[in-house]
Amino acid sequence: MATESVIEISGLSKTYGSGSKQTLALNRLDLSVRRGEIFGYLGPNGAGKTTTIRLLLDLIRPSAGSASIFGMDIRADSVEIHRRIGFLPGELSLWEGRTGDQIIHYVASVRGDTRGIAKHADELAERLDLDKTKRVRDLSSGNKRKLGLVIAMMHSPELLILDEPTGGLDPLVQQTFHDMMEEYRAKGKTVFLSSHVLSEVQAICDRVGILRDGELKAVESVEKITNVEFNWVDVTFRDAVPAGLQQQLDNMPSITDVSTNGTRVRMRMIGDFDPLLRAISGGYVEMLHVEEPSLEEIFLAFYSGDEEKLQ
Ligand code: ATP
Repeated sequence: MATESVIEISGLSKTYGSGSKQTLALNRLDLSVRRGEIFGYLGPNGAGKTTTIRLLLDLIRPSAGSASIFGMDIRADSVEIHRRIGFLPGELSLWEGRTGDQIIHYVASVRGDTRGIAKHADELAERLDLDKTKRVRDLSSGNKRKLGLVIAMMHSPELLILDEPTGGLDPLVQQTFHDMMEEYRAKGKTVFLSSHVLSEVQAICDRVGILRDGELKAVESVEKITNVEFNWVDVTFRDAVPAGLQQQLDNMPSITDVSTNGTRVRMRMIGDFDPLLRAISGGYVEMLHVEEPSLEEIFLAFYSGDEEKLQ
């Protein structure tokens, strides 16, 4: 059950433009998203996240490769797929002159079950603190995003595909969104979301895929990616850094990236502390500060192609 895949992508590629103006936005993507997981799709600007999502939704056509959702082909079966999923695009374009309520009722009627869906939409709007009586043109960008989330979620779909869902939302609403995602997972539903917000991914996702320049660089569980073994260590001496310490540290296999600044030494350290404590015992240590690498640091190492730094 846990390994049943909901999204299956195989060799999916997209090239925009032609001739000398070609951009390879997605390069032979292979990826499976499992039922019941929250999958975070991460990457810097221009990595190809939106392109992937638009391909999955059949809004644009692939240059090569294929993909299926619920075992159905994304191109041949796109109508049936759309019936069963909820989608939040990166850039929402809604009828500017209509109110949130009008749009929700329209979409609910297209989805076929006006009362049940609209009632759920009311609950979602209330939790997200969205005023549905305002016209779209009068909504702030964060409130438009909330309306987009309500539309994506109001029919309780089995799969949610969300492009940057929390962009522009304030921290309280972000927390509500996180709670909603947890509830989705508890019901065995699946979420595929793209994000730049590392803390969000850490807080809610089960696995992450890291995309860079159209290529998938890694797919890992969030637990594993945050469980790296190295630490940054800062040692502050009362007086100057003891003579020869820098060289001594440079020669220790468990220590790298040593930098000295006045009375401070900073280094990246793997494993036990004992060798370091012996090495620094020649001076009077005023402060010892140990810092785990941030998720951002870990991801930046992936983004920059420096995977070795993660070992
Ligand atoms: P962001 O985080 O900035 O939204 P992204 O990861 O979603 O970025 P995409 O929007 O998928 O990235 O873009 C991937 C690449 O394809 C970029 O180099 C972009 O300039 C290019 N691209 C996207 N859409 C088009 C288009 N319609 N025509 C030409 N090039 C495009």
